[in-house]
Amino acid sequence: MTTTTTPPQNHNGPLWGAAPRPTACRGCGAADAADFAVRAHVGVLVLMRFHRVDGPLCRRCGRATVRVMTTKTLCQGWWSPFSLFIFTPFTLVWNLIAAMRFAKLPLSEPAPGRVPLDEGPPVHARPLAYVGLLPVLWVIWFVVGGIARSS
Ligand SMILES: [Zn+2]
Repeated sequence: MTTTTTPPQNHNGPLWGAAPRPTACRGCGAADAADFAVRAHVGVLVLMRFHRVDGPLCRRCGRATVRVMTTKTLCQGWWSPFSLFIFTPFTLVWNLIAAMRFAKLPLSEPAPGRVPLDEGPPVHARPLAYVGLLPVLWVIWFVVGGIARSS
């Protein structure tokens, strides 16, 4: 007697990855896009918010998103203890890596009828980004004051 075993058939397609992730830019549909998230962090006293924009994003949309999210983090990310020492530095390093990933992409044309996100001025040309200097100055003032008192 011969028994034949057939592997279980899955008629509903694979469990994972049933819908292939898009590879084109989600901002403008450009073909050359990197699947990398951009983050922002807001921390005020005990309130913390984590924002995230998932890819794929093309070079221009990626840079535009990095600029907006990084400026938001530099402005609003410093005002709780955990944010100051953990989440905001992490977010800024993450976005730096994201910016380098997007910078490696070739400039590609958006899909017909769509336009890439407006890049706007770079982060260093956005006044709100300099709000981030306040906690740095505060730490310097605190350390210098401590040294002055102990001598
Ligand atoms: Zn795009």
